[in-house]
Amino acid sequence: MPTKAKSPHLPFGDQRTAPWYGKDILSVKQFSRADLEYIFGVAHEMRNMVDRIGTFDLLKGKILANLFYEPSTRTQSSFMAAMQRLGGAVIPISEVRYSSVAKGETLPDTVRTLGCYADVIVIRHPEVGSAAQAAEASSKPVINAGDGVGEHPTQALLDAFTIHEELARMDDLTVTMLGDLKYGRTVHSLSRLLSLYNARLHYVSPGILRMPPEIIAELEAKGIRQTEHTTLDKALPDTDVLYVTRVQKERFESEEVYDSVKASFVVDKKVMAGAKPNMIVMHPLPRVTEIATDVDDDPRAAYFRQMEYGLYVRMALLAMVLGKA
Ligand code: ASP
Repeated sequence: MPTKAKSPHLPFGDQRTAPWYGKDILSVKQFSRADLEYIFGVAHEMRNMVDRIGTFDLLKGKILANLFYEPSTRTQSSFMAAMQRLGGAVIPISEVRYSSVAKGETLPDTVRTLGCYADVIVIRHPEVGSAAQAAEASSKPVINAGDGVGEHPTQALLDAFTIHEELARMDDLTVTMLGDLKYGRTVHSLSRLLSLYNARLHYVSPGILRMPPEIIAELEAKGIRQTEHTTLDKALPDTDVLYVTRVQKERFESEEVYDSVKASFVVDKKVMAGAKPNMIVMHPLPRVTEIATDVDDDPRAAYFRQMEYGLYVRMALLAMVLGKA
C-alpha cells in the first residue's frame, strides 16, 4: 500500500486524488496484489502509447533526478528513456565523483539539493537502507533503484510484469531462482512479490550464496513453499520460471572466494532440453557466463524481452508518483 505522501507542487488539483501521488517507492513490501494489478494496467497503457505514438506529453515540464552511486546500464537508461518518452526531462548524475559527493557531501544533503530542482529522485546506492535514508531527507518522492544487497523494487515489478505478460498468469507458479541468492538484490525483492501469488520457490545456489535466512523465514511465515538446492536437476522439470542471476563479484571480500563460485552454474542448450516447453528463462542482466549465448534464440529466453517490459513499468511508476496515473 502507498505510504506517506510527499507534498511537491500541486499545479493541478486532481493530482491529489491519484493514489500513488507523492509516494516513495522503497521496498516491494509496500505493494499488495491490487497495487500490482494497477501497475500492470498502467504499464499496458504505456506500452500501447509507445507503440502508437512513441513519445507523449504526460509528464511535460516534470524533471527526474537520476542519482547513481553504483554502475548501471538498464536501470539508469530505462528511467531516462521512461521520463523522456513521457515528455519530461532528466538530470543524470552517474559520475558522482564529479559531483559534490566527491567533496564529502552527505547523501541527505545531496538529496535535499536535488529536491530543489527535480520533481522525483531515482537513487542507486551501495548501502542497504540508503534509499530510505534519502527518502527521509527528501521533499520529493524517491524511487529505490537498488540499495546494495537490499532490494531492487522496480526490477521486481518489471520481473512480475514480465511473468504476467509472458505466461498470462501469476498464481501458483513454480519459480526457480538460480545463482547468487545471497548478494543478488533482485531475488530478494522478487521472492517477496511472488509470495503474494502463492508461488512455489526453489532456490539453487552454492552453499555460500544461499538466500538470506531472514527472507526464507519471512516467506515461511506466509506459508510459501520453499526448497533450497545446490544443483538444478531436481528443481528444473517442474519449473515455470527459471530466474538466473549473476554472481555479484563486486560484493565479495576476496577474489579467491569469488573465483571459487563464479562458474557454479551455466544454463545452456543441454539444460534447456530438460525444461518445460513453456518455461521462461529470465535474468535481470548483465549476464556474465551463467547463460550460454546458444540459449538466446530459444523462444523461452525472455531476458531481452524483460528489458523492454522494464521501460513500460518505469513509465508507469513515474506517472504514478507524479500524480498522472
Ligand atoms: N542489474 C541488476 C542489479 O542491479 C542485477 C545485477 O547487477 O546482477 O541488481
